[in-house]
Amino acid sequence: MIFIEKEIQTAAYLFASILFILSLGGLSSQESAKRSVFYGIIGMAIAILATVLGKGVEGHVYIIGGISVAAIIGTLLARKVEMTSMPQLVAILHSFVGLAAVLVGFGSYLDPATHKLSSTEHTIHLVEVFIGVFIGAITFTGSIIAWGKLEGKVRSKPLLYPGRHAVNIILVLASIGLGVMFSMAEGTSGMIYLYIMTAIACFIGVMLVMAIGGADMPVVVSMLNSYSGWAASAAGFMLGNDLLIVTGALVGSSGAILSIIMCEAMNRSFFSVILGGFGAVAATGEATAMEGEVTSLNHEEVAELLKEAKSVVIVPGYGMAVAKAQYPIHDMVQTLRKAGKMVRFAIHPVAGRLPGHMNVLLAEANVPYDIVLEMDEINAELSDTDVVMVIGANDVVNPGAQDDPSSPIYGMPVIEAWKAEKVIVMKRSMSSGYAGVENPLFYKANTEMLYSDAKESVEKILIFLKKHHS
Ligand code: NDP
Repeated sequence: MIFIEKEIQTAAYLFASILFILSLGGLSSQESAKRSVFYGIIGMAIAILATVLGKGVEGHVYIIGGISVAAIIGTLLARKVEMTSMPQLVAILHSFVGLAAVLVGFGSYLDPATHKLSSTEHTIHLVEVFIGVFIGAITFTGSIIAWGKLEGKVRSKPLLYPGRHAVNIILVLASIGLGVMFSMAEGTSGMIYLYIMTAIACFIGVMLVMAIGGADMPVVVSMLNSYSGWAASAAGFMLGNDLLIVTGALVGSSGAILSIIMCEAMNRSFFSVILGGFGAVAATGEATAMEGEVTSLNHEEVAELLKEAKSVVIVPGYGMAVAKAQYPIHDMVQTLRKAGKMVRFAIHPVAGRLPGHMNVLLAEANVPYDIVLEMDEINAELSDTDVVMVIGANDVVNPGAQDDPSSPIYGMPVIEAWKAEKVIVMKRSMSSGYAGVENPLFYKANTEMLYSDAKESVEKILIFLKKHHS
């Protein structure tokens, strides 16, 4: 086996860190995103090679075996996963990072080398182990619950019980107490404290995410992303691996920044969301009775409306992703633009199930970036718009967020579709969106429903549009 010198390993780590930073930076724009993923892959390949070939590493057969099996499973999973299930995949991958940090912590504590350290170094190392396992365990179970909520296996309504904040504080204090006993324990006898704390942290992880309501899930996903970064960073401290510390800190801080951006987009206080403060209204609030009548149109009538319109705004949502309607939508947009109409997209920051979900899908279908506008850019122009087509979106166009204080999404900025001359809502039924609330938009006088699968609907409308234009 060829081993590389420590200096070469350090240089390789530095190079990989630079690639990771370039990778993260490039993800901020669609044009550079593909290239930046490539930087990430190269960086990770260098990081793995430099670590595995480092001096003192043994058991290469097991390492290569483990990496090969994991690579096959990862490739198969990623190839199979539907775009709509990406959030669940991301959530479950975060749980692996958390579990890895817990196992590294256990291993590092049981490693005889740990107990040969000098007194101060030993204590510092034990603190690293304890904190790393604590964050790792919360990330592990929290991410599993997040996966369950996104997959629909765990109910999305917040689980709130009286005095939960007090219970959480007591559990954190108990963990600190266990940490003190752990750091004073002789040899490996502190393992019992580590196990008890792990169980407590696992419980905290479950309760933390269970307490968060459906509408706040975007923040939870990005928050767990951040936790997984800190867990990796903690594992880096335990293993004395600088690259893991840097990479973990990059993921941790970018995840935290994303969480804050998501909170701002949803007009939520970051701390209230992570402490599960929201959703309390959802549990007690009476559902407001809907006023007005629901009316619907058929595909031909919708095509007729579009033909007469001068300006059209499309609001895509999770249903567009489910139906994979982005491709026919692009065709429809091209047809309308050729007929001289102004067509634009309005993207809500939490539309779909992932940050940037809609942008990714529209880019995949080659929709030009310059007609894809953010919520803040388009809202002021909706009152001058002839037709707004809501395609598979629901919560992000719910007027209750502005005028119904009993709504769990009250206060969240939304796309004000109802301000347009005419609103067409394309979905399969009257059922609610992810937040589980009724949508008064469907009952407005200027709203027409078009019931069917989004892709089918757009394809049918397109046939009628082409007929009219030919
Ligand atoms: P919603 O989940 O509110 O609504 C989607 C709508 O799409 C449903 O009401 C459904 O109605 C319809 N639909 C489903 N399948 C189809 C189909 N094949 N054809 C046509 N329509 C379909 O989506 P939004 O995008 O409006 O809002 C996103 C929600 O998800 C928000 O509450 C957000 O907080 C939450 N969330 C967002 C995350 C993110 O990072 N973006 C992460 C986690 C949660 P019907 O069944 O009648 O067809």
